[in-house]
Formats: sequence, structure tokens, C-alpha cells
Amino acid sequence: MTPIHLALVGLGKIAHDQHVPAIAADPRFELAAVVSRHAGLDGVPHFTTLEDLLADGLAIDAVSLCTPPQPRHALAHLALATGKHVMLEKPPGATLSEVEDLRQVAAARGLTLQATWHSRHAAAVEPARAWLAERWIKAVRINWKEDVRVWHPGQDWIWEAGGLGVFDPAINALSIATRVLPRPFFLSRGLLHVPANRQSPIQAELDFRDTAGAPIRVELDFLQTGPQSWDIEVDTDDGALKLTNGGAKLWINGQLLHEGPDREYPGLYDAFARLIADGASDVDTSPLRHVADAFLLAERRVAPAFDW
Ligand code: NAP
Repeated sequence: MTPIHLALVGLGKIAHDQHVPAIAADPRFELAAVVSRHAGLDGVPHFTTLEDLLADGLAIDAVSLCTPPQPRHALAHLALATGKHVMLEKPPGATLSEVEDLRQVAAARGLTLQATWHSRHAAAVEPARAWLAERWIKAVRINWKEDVRVWHPGQDWIWEAGGLGVFDPAINALSIATRVLPRPFFLSRGLLHVPANRQSPIQAELDFRDTAGAPIRVELDFLQTGPQSWDIEVDTDDGALKLTNGGAKLWINGQLLHEGPDREYPGLYDAFARLIADGASDVDTSPLRHVADAFLLAERRVAPAFDW
């Protein structure tokens, strides 16, 4: 079997923590190059820009983009235009329109485009989806509260336009909710708290309703100290479901029903290899659409200035 020669672009936290080990563990991939303005990896050809890599003529089949969202479209477009399959870290772009452009370019060229949602591969997400599919949803509460200073130290891009602020982690909650909840849902109103010296929200409260009227309350906080919460609670006609630890654990009526090892990034690369083999793409923008709706509809309040 000839492996897929993959280039990793953007060697930051998620590339080091998750992509490099997941690629190394999957025999269908070979890490053929890294593209980074600052760093390299032992034993792997290193280029400072994607243009330099492409000009070198090294055999590359696919590119995995681990940069922040703002520069992602230009990189993805260049990779697709030169015949590479593309994996996009979440969120798949800075705007919905640029992701749609990538979808069309990939389709026209017969290439694979994968918009990844790593939290959908958390161990308890599919069991939760199956459990909820057979029940009537009455109400949903999503609490995604973490300390930005612990989880995103020094990542200034997160506060810039297009960086999403607290929605950078919270889009993971929306990626799970759009996967496990049986009915579509829409934003009715919301409140975004934006630090006086920043462009993106640090806290948010959002009220959605699904198409049968069930309320979905979403509370997001980037200033949470002490216990962190990445939890989704669903009241149904047949008991209460709780997904905790970002989708890793499933509780029904307070009893732990399912948990498993962290296979999120191996799951993403498994899906990418299958998509390439099948000549298919997977570009679900629904989590990003809900974030865009929040930026369209929610009221804004000025919050105290944020500094690291
Ligand atoms: P990060 O640590 O800041 O790394 C991003 C890397 O992208 C930088 O190290 C830089 O690498 C490169 N880069 C290229 N253009 C850039 C630009 N204009 N501004 C800043 N960096 C640029 O960020 P990260 O945490 O890895 O997150 C990257 C993406 O992965 C984000 O979309 C994030 O939502 C997603 N993600 C992050 C996590 C997490 O836990 N951190 C989890 C899941 C997904 P070079 O210096 O090598 O060029």
C-alpha cells in the first residue's frame, strides 16, 4: 500500500499535541513535509511557506491545515489548485462563503475536502446520538466554560476579527449538538460580551429553539477558573442525558453509561483516508453557521479589557 504523502501546515499547539501523533500512528499516511514560519520536526523536510513546498516539487498528495482560521482559505485554495486533498482544522474557515468556495473548487477538481470537527469523534457522541434518536427532546443546556489563559496562552489570533473568541472552543459544543440532537435548531436571541480592547467575545449567552420549540440554552465563558465545564444536558420524555468532558462521557439519569479512550484525532485521520479512497468530501458547515448567526443576531456588550 502506498501511503498518502501528507504535508502539515502550521506547527502550533494542536499540530504538536494531536496531528503529529495521529499521523505517526496511521500507516495510511506518511508525514512528508511540515510548513512552518518558525519551527521544524526532526527528520521531516521543512518549508517556511506552502508556496516554497509546492515549488520544491516534493511528492505531496494531501495537506492538513492547522493554522488559525484567518489564513486558512488562501492556503486551502492554493493546495486544491495544485491538486492536493485538504483537511481543514476547525473552524473550516473565517467565513461561510470561503468554505463554500473551497467546496466548489474541490468538487470541480475531484479532490477530497474535509472540514473536521474533532469533538464529533469523542467517545460518547455516537452513543448519545443513538439514545436521543429514540426520545422526545424537551430542553437542552450547554455549558462550555474554560480558562483561556490555561488552554490558549498567548494565542492573540483568537481575539482578532475572525478568531471567534470564546466560540473557538464553543464551536466544538455546537459541532456535537448539531450531530446528536435529532431536530434542527435556530438562534432566537443572544448576548455577546466583547472586551473593550479586543474584537471577539469572551463570554456569551445564547437562546436557541429547535423546530418543535424545545429551548436550547447555551452559556459560554472564557474566564472560568476552577472546575472547567464542557457539558451538554438534555431533558427528554424518558430521562436525562448528560454528555461531559467534551463528549467523552455519557450519563443517563446520573449513571455513567459510556466512556472510552480519546480517539478524536485518529478518528479524523481515519475519516480523511476513507474520504480520499472513496473520492468523496465532507464539508458540514452547520456549527460555523450557528456561530455566524450569533454574530449576526446577538446583542453586544462591552466587557472589561482582557490581557494575558
Ligand atoms: P496555535 O498554537 O497558535 O498554532 C497555530 C499555528 O499556525 C502557529 O503556530 C503558526 O505556526 C501557524 N500560523 C500560520 N499563520 C498564522 C497566523 N496568521 N497567525 C497565527 N499563527 C499562524 O493555535 P492552535 O491551538 O494550534 O490552533 C490552530 C487551529 O486548530 C485553530 O483553528 C484551533 O481552533 C484549532 N484547534 C485547536 C485546539 C487546541 O486545543 N489548541 C484543539 C482543536 C482545534 P508556524 O509558526 O509554524 O507557522
